[in-house]
Amino acid sequence: MTKSFSEEIKRRAEIIDVLVLDVDGVLTDGRIIIDDRGRESKHFNVRDGHGIKMLLKTGIEVVFLTGRKSRVVAHRAQDLGVREVYQGARDKVMIFEGMLLKKKIKADQVAYMGDDVVDIPLFRIAGLSIAVADACEEAREAAHFVTEKEGGMGAVREVCEMILRARGKWEEITMRYTFK
Ligand SMILES: [Mg+2]
Repeated sequence: MTKSFSEEIKRRAEIIDVLVLDVDGVLTDGRIIIDDRGRESKHFNVRDGHGIKMLLKTGIEVVFLTGRKSRVVAHRAQDLGVREVYQGARDKVMIFEGMLLKKKIKADQVAYMGDDVVDIPLFRIAGLSIAVADACEEAREAAHFVTEKEGGMGAVREVCEMILRARGKWEEITMRYTFK
């Protein structure tokens, strides 16, 4: 089943102030590389990174929320200017709700992007829930929107552009690069 960009998605996207991202399988392709010293590495996508920076530049917040814990995630967040990072999150819903209280915002103003069954409870709460193209079937069914791109392969960039367009910021952002 394809869930494409519709009027409903546009309506949900145009009031988004915060984008919350799962990490493994969303910002990455889900692979975790562990060397013989037990150190982890992951592949991130440079265009996803630029998408995140564009959102931040227009005042839309970006938050990482992951059940795992690794230093690479903190490094990546710092690199992109993402200041709010929740790692080792056993209960993502609890953290999400705490975040709403702290920011004094409603769930409608938050988009959440995930790839697996653990993300489904948040899909039900978030104003705009997004599954990556290669998410598990249950997650794709539960989400409002499914990206064309896969996790770690530009899915996050796709969503950043979607939010920027829905909020009417895309032209303004791209004009800086295309103006001759
Ligand atoms: Mg995941």
